[in-house]
Amino acid sequence: MPLRSTLLALLVPALLVSTLLVLFGQPTGALAAGLVTLAGSALALGTSRVAMERQLRALTQKTQSLAEGVMFPAGVERTDDLAQLEDAIDTLDDRLSTQNAALNQEARTLTAVLDGMAEGLWVTDAEGTVVRHNDALAEMLRPAQGAIVGQRPLALIRNEALNDAVARACQEGASTRLELTLEGLFSRTLAVRVTPVGRDLPGSAAVFHDVTELRRLEKVRKDFVANVSHELRTPITAIRGYAETLQGGALNDAQVAPRMVEIIHRQSERLSELVEDLLELSRLEAREMTFQRTEVPLALAVSRAAEGVRPKAEGKNQQIGLHIPPQLVALGDGRAIEQVLLNLLDNAVKYTPAGGRVDVDGAYEGGRCVVRVRDTGVGIEPKHLSRIFERFYRVDKGRSRDMGGTGLGLSIVKHLMGAMDGEVKVESQPNAGSTFVIFLPSAAGPTAATG
Ligand code: ADP
Repeated sequence: MPLRSTLLALLVPALLVSTLLVLFGQPTGALAAGLVTLAGSALALGTSRVAMERQLRALTQKTQSLAEGVMFPAGVERTDDLAQLEDAIDTLDDRLSTQNAALNQEARTLTAVLDGMAEGLWVTDAEGTVVRHNDALAEMLRPAQGAIVGQRPLALIRNEALNDAVARACQEGASTRLELTLEGLFSRTLAVRVTPVGRDLPGSAAVFHDVTELRRLEKVRKDFVANVSHELRTPITAIRGYAETLQGGALNDAQVAPRMVEIIHRQSERLSELVEDLLELSRLEAREMTFQRTEVPLALAVSRAAEGVRPKAEGKNQQIGLHIPPQLVALGDGRAIEQVLLNLLDNAVKYTPAGGRVDVDGAYEGGRCVVRVRDTGVGIEPKHLSRIFERFYRVDKGRSRDMGGTGLGLSIVKHLMGAMDGEVKVESQPNAGSTFVIFLPSAAGPTAATG
C-alpha cells in the first residue's frame, strides 16, 4: 500500500470525530465519537503497518539481491513507492558497476606495469608485513616457503639492515638506500631503496635492483687496471734501476755495462710487447677491428706462423712438424688466423722443454676446418683449463714472465676466434703436453668431405 493510502486511513477517522463533536455537542456524544475514532485509527494503523512492513521486507530483499549481484526476485509485489526506490537503487547500482569496472581496469594496468618491471618490488603494511609484490621479486627471492605475501622482511631476506630500513620507513617515514647480497648457488647483489608508501597511506615500499653484473664488471675493470699497472711496473722498474746504475758510474765499467744495456733492451722489448697486446685486446673488445671473410688456405697460414717461431724452437732444439692438407681452406681474416696460430705456436714452443716436439695437424670435421697445435711440453692441470683464456691468467706466473709472456696471448686468441665465428678449445694433462684446437668456418661449405 502506498504512503498516500496510509495517511488517508488515518485522516478519515479523525474527520469523523470532528464531525460527530460538532453534531452532538454533548459529552456522551463526544465519548461515542471518540471510541469510533480510536477504533478507526487502530484499524487504519494496523493495516498500514502490515503494508509498510511488507514493502520494507521487499525492499530489503531487493537491496540484498543487488548486493549479491542477482536480479530483483520475482513475485514480489511492486508498489509505486517501492518502484521509485528500486529505480534509485538501480541507478546507484549502475553507477557502482561503472566505477567498479574502471577500478578493475586500473588495477589490471597497475599489475601489468609492476610485473613488467625488471626491478623487484614489495609493499608492506604499517607493521612491515608484505601485502603485495611483483613477479620480478618472486623470481629474485624464490623463498623456500613459497608465499611472499604475509611474510616479514627478515623471514624473506636475512638482513638486519633491510629489516631496520622497513621499520624506519613505516614508523618514521624515512627513506633508505642499501646494498645486500643474496647468498646461494648463484649469489646476487641487490641495490635496495626502501621508502614510505605515501603521506596518508601507512606502510612502506622497497624496490630491488639486481646489480650483480654491474658489480662484476666493476671488479673486472678494477682487476684489469691493477694487473696492467703491475705488468707495466715490472719492466719499467728494471729499466729505471739499470739506467740509474749506469748513470751512477757503471757505464764506465766495461764488464757490467754491456750486460745492463742488454737487460734494459730486453725489458723495453717486453714493455712494447705488453703495450701492443693491450692495444690489440682493447681494440678487439671495443669491436674497433674489422674482419674480412675471405678464403684462407690454412697450410700457408700455418707455415707463415711457424716461420715466426722457428728461430726460438731451433734455439731450444725443438722439432716443428706441419701436417696440413693443401685443400683445407677456411673462411676468415687471413691476418687474424695467422696471429692466432702464431700465439698458439709461440706458447707451444715456450712451454715445451728443450728437445721437445710441436706438431700442427689440420682436417675438415663436421663441416668446419679444424687445426690442432700439439706439444710435448709441461701440460696444464685440469683446474686451470677453464681459466687460461682470461686476461693475465697464468698457471705459473714466474715461468710465464721468465719466458717473456704477457698473460694476454690466449685472451687475444679467444677474441679473434669469436670475431670469425670460430672457437678455440684445449686438451691437456700435466707433464703430458697440451693440444690447442681451433675451429673455423670452411670455405668449402658445411657439407665438405672429411679430408
Ligand atoms: P702467457 O703470455 O703467459 O703465455 P697466455 O695467455 O698465452 O699468456 O697463456 C696463459 C697461460 O696458459 C700461460 O701462462 C700458461 O700457464 C698456460 N699455457 C698456454 N699455452 C700453454 C702450453 N702450450 N702449454 C702449457 N701451458 C700453456
